[in-house]
Formats: sequence, structure tokens, C-alpha cells
Amino acid sequence: MSDRMHWSRWGDPARTTTLPANALAMLELAFGPPAPRPAVDQQAVQLPAVGLPDDVLDALRDAIGVEHVDTGVEPRLLHTGGKSTPDLLALRGGDAAAAPDAVLRPADHDEVQALVSLCSERRIAVVPYGGGTSVVGGLTASRDGLVAVVAIDLGRLDRLVDVDEVSSTAVLQAGVSGPRAEELLGEHGMTLGHFPQSFEFATVGGFAATRSSGQSSSGYGRFDTMVVGLKVATPLGTWELGVAPASAAGPDLRQLVLGSEGTLGIVTEVRLAVRTKPVTAVYETWRFPTFVGGATAMRTLTQDGINPTVLRLSDETETSLNLAKPESIGADSGGGALMVCGYEGTDDRVERMRREVGEVLQGLGGTPLGAEDGEEWAEGRFNAPYLRDALLDQGVLVETLETATFWSNLDHLYAQVKAALEGALSAQGTNPIVLCHISHVYRTGASLYFTVACRETDDPRAQWYTAKQAASDAIVAAGGTITHHHAVGRDHKPWYAEEIGPIGTDVLRAVKRSVDPAGVLNPGVLIP
Ligand SMILES: Cc1cc2nc3c(=O)[nH]c(=O)nc-3n(C[C@H](O)[C@H](O)[C@H](O)COP(=O)(O)OP(=O)(O)OC[C@H]3O[C@@H](n4cnc5c(N)ncnc54)[C@H](O)[C@@H]3O)c2cc1C
Repeated sequence: MSDRMHWSRWGDPARTTTLPANALAMLELAFGPPAPRPAVDQQAVQLPAVGLPDDVLDALRDAIGVEHVDTGVEPRLLHTGGKSTPDLLALRGGDAAAAPDAVLRPADHDEVQALVSLCSERRIAVVPYGGGTSVVGGLTASRDGLVAVVAIDLGRLDRLVDVDEVSSTAVLQAGVSGPRAEELLGEHGMTLGHFPQSFEFATVGGFAATRSSGQSSSGYGRFDTMVVGLKVATPLGTWELGVAPASAAGPDLRQLVLGSEGTLGIVTEVRLAVRTKPVTAVYETWRFPTFVGGATAMRTLTQDGINPTVLRLSDETETSLNLAKPESIGADSGGGALMVCGYEGTDDRVERMRREVGEVLQGLGGTPLGAEDGEEWAEGRFNAPYLRDALLDQGVLVETLETATFWSNLDHLYAQVKAALEGALSAQGTNPIVLCHISHVYRTGASLYFTVACRETDDPRAQWYTAKQAASDAIVAAGGTITHHHAVGRDHKPWYAEEIGPIGTDVLRAVKRSVDPAGVLNPGVLIP
């Protein structure tokens, strides 16, 4: 994890946000009188005692150097869980029971391999730690039957290993963060084009392990479609995959590692298909009378093979709240459903794409609003997560969840999940606001991303889990996937088991037994 990350909030402590007066007034209108709930003081948080035997600690120090094996309180606290709202609520309340016993910082693949082999022999649970931005409980390992838990922080694996300009590929080490990847590739005139909202902290290894999808997925694709090769440290030894751009040599085993969330090995290097860095980028907004109408326009574009680099559409509620711009919260949004379209590339390509998209959108009822709001969206797009902490400070529960389905089922899934969230939270005596947007589109379907806000009850974690359970049940019943890009972690496991069925579950368990016979790799995560 980046040392810049706050221990109990999202992001850089120096960028901690408070809510402007207009947002506080709107909260009072929506949820009643203020009920602030500040976090406990960091010094008040108690960590469990370090449970690693001395001889294991000595062996770990021999493997990677004394200074890279850390059992101090602060590093352990900074590696406790991820950044879901329940994770943050636990820490804000002083609960750090999930802290690892030590944080290990290997320098390269060989050191990661040595640690994985050692932990497998000594029955120590291993949590691979990238940016620490998991929102599905992917960084909280179960201790059952194991001696202790260590977090293997990949932050020192931060190099560009190789660039093949002829083939447009680059090999990046797993601990390279989003901005660092752009910086390293930028020196060669290239871009990865992967910009999830967690971009500033999340890592290449984490993107691969969770099959992440970025805000420019419409143009550049999801992260898993960019991966052409992988190097993985497993308890059985080093596993390297991907010798050609495409292959008919049996099932694609890269796909077994992608999305495996640290349960089958630690990814140390990723060979990625990269692109030429764009010369021009233009982001503009459009208004549609309804969310359904905007979604139809998105489908038309995608099925016609017209893919702007960024394509997202807020539903009527999300549009009305102007949530992406705190200074505008509560101001008149103009109504309808707001779409953001972004175009990146050469001047010519951007102009051509913009014209083509414009013709289709105008023909389907869209009104062009120009580039001002689009540019503001692009500039502020990594600031929104800071708002969640500011809302939690005010006793307002905020969390997100996401799913995807085929176009023909999208309206149904949207209605069912929204109703489930509203129903579950209203039944607890709160008055929830449920927002949604589409941010990832395919020829055959799209994702739905929900944000929920309501007044916290006395036990906000239990409050959220009840709502999450209702929404997850609704997702499965309505034929959606339990996750489009956040991954499975611990939080989605029951519904994931339903999604892949008993045969899928058996296959996964068999692979896990074979690669990780001691069961030390991220136990309790992903595998049903
Ligand atoms: C505010 C916010 C916004 C987000 N926005 C997006 C978004 O737009 N799109 C999106 O896809 N996701 C998003 N996420 C989720 C999260 O950022 C992604 O899942 C991301 O890919 C995780 O990367 P990371 O480096 O932080 O991994 P971590 O959180 O450190 O780890 C995630 C999982 O992968 C495992 N892992 C990490 N590194 C490795 C490795 N090298 N080898 C094997 N296993 C490993 C971990 O053990 C864990 O199970 C968001 C999260 C937050 C908090």
C-alpha cells in the first residue's frame, strides 16, 4: 500500500474533504438533523498481538532482509482490510482485529517466491497486498488452522521490465500503481489506458488479480483484455503464462490467474498490450430525457461499433444530485439523464469519433451540452471517493455495488436492485437515496453501478450487510452477475457459488488444492 493512504479513510490524508454548506443543508433535508460520527483517534486503536513464532520471523528476515519485515503497529494498521465502507467503519470504530501479524516488502520475483514457499511450508496465511483498495473483503484472510497472517506488500516491485514497441507490449511489475504505469509508459509515448476510480492507489497486480475495469473501458477495454502474459509465484514454484498474442493450445490458463484474487499465487509481472499515448482528449456531456432512452443510445453506439473512449450515463436521481461536483450539489441539474462521452487519440480521430457519436446521439433524442461539464468530470474524477469519508463523518452511510447483464435484461435488473436496496434500507427506518450509472458497455450488455446513501443506524455495518444481502439476492434472481469489476473477495462468495454452480465450485476447489496444498494463499477469499 502507498504510505500516502489514510489509515481509516480513502486516499491521501492531505486531501481530506469536508462537505460544503450546500451539501450539509441538502443532507439535513434528505436525512433529518445532523448526527456527526467522527472516527476514533488512531492512537486508540488496539491491534492483536503478533502471533508469528520467532523462528519464522528469523526465516522471513533471512529471505528479504530485516528492514523489510515489519511488525510495527502503524504498518500493520495501514494493511488492515481494504476500502469498502464496512472496512472503513470497522477502523473508524477502532476495530483492527483483521490486522496482519507482519508486513513483508519483497524486492523482486525471487523474493516473493521465497516468501510464498516459506509461508506454505510453515502454514502462514499470505495476503498479497497491492494498493489496498479492495472493496469486497479481498484483503482479510481467515486464520483457521494457520499459524499467523502476513501481508506481502508488492510496493517495491515498481519497475517497467521491458517494452516491445514493435508488438506494442510492455512488462510491468505487479506493484506499479496506476499513475506510475502512465509515467513509465509515457516515457515511451505509450499509455495503458486503465483509469479506474481507484487509479491513484491501485496497482497492476491488483488490476490483474481482480479483473478490474477502468473508466475508459469503452475505448481501451477492461484490464483482463489487456493482459497477454503473467509471471506468478506459487507454492509449487514459478508459473509463467502467455507466449503469443493468441493461441489454441488448450484452455487459456491466464484466465485462471486473472481474477484469482491472490488465492492461486502472487502475480509479480504482467505483460500488457499498450497503446500510443493520445495527443488529444475531449470529454463532453449530453442530456437524454430518460435513463432508458440514454441506455438505448449507448447500446446503439456499441452495436454499431462506435466506441468513444469514455461512455457513461447517470440515471435521473444521480443526474439530479450533481454528485461528481460537490460545489454543485443541490443546484438545478437540468433533469433527465446525463451522459459523459470522452474521445482520445489523434486530432483527426477525436474529431471523427466526436462527429460520428454526435450524429447517433442526436438522432436518438440526446441534447449536446458541450465540453465544459465533461472536462470538469475528467479533472475531478478521482476526487469523488473522498466524499464518502466526509459523509461518514456526518453519520451518513454511503456504499456502492455493481453488476452487469445483457441489454435485453438491463431495465429489469436495474428496477429489481434499486427496489431491493430501497426496500431493505427503508425497512430499517431510514430514507435511502439510491443512484445508478452505466459505465462499462459491450455489444451484448452493460454494467450497472449503484450508490446508496442514508442516515446511519446504531450499527451501520449490520445495516449495510442487510441491504447488501437484499441487493445481492435481487441480482442473482434477476439474472445479473454478482460483480462486474469489484471481484468476489469474501463479501460476494455465497452468490458467486450460485453463479458458477456446483461444477464450477468443484473445479475451482480442485485447482486451489493442487496449486496451494497447504491452503495459505488468501484463505477465505474467492473460493466458495
Ligand atoms: C474508491 C474506489 C474506487 C474504485 N473504483 C474501481 C473502478 O473504477 N474499477 C475497478 O475495477 N475497481 C475499482 N475499485 C476496486 C479496486 O480498486 C480494484 O479491485 C483494484 O483492482 C484493486 O487493486 P489494488 O492494487 O488496490 O489491489 P488490492 O486491493 O491490494 O488487492 C485486491 C485483491 O487482489 C489481491 N492481489 C493484489 N495484488 C496481487 C498480486 N500481485 N497477485 C495476486 N493477488 C493480488 C489481493 O490479495 C486482494 O484479494 C475501487 C475501489 C475503491 C476503494
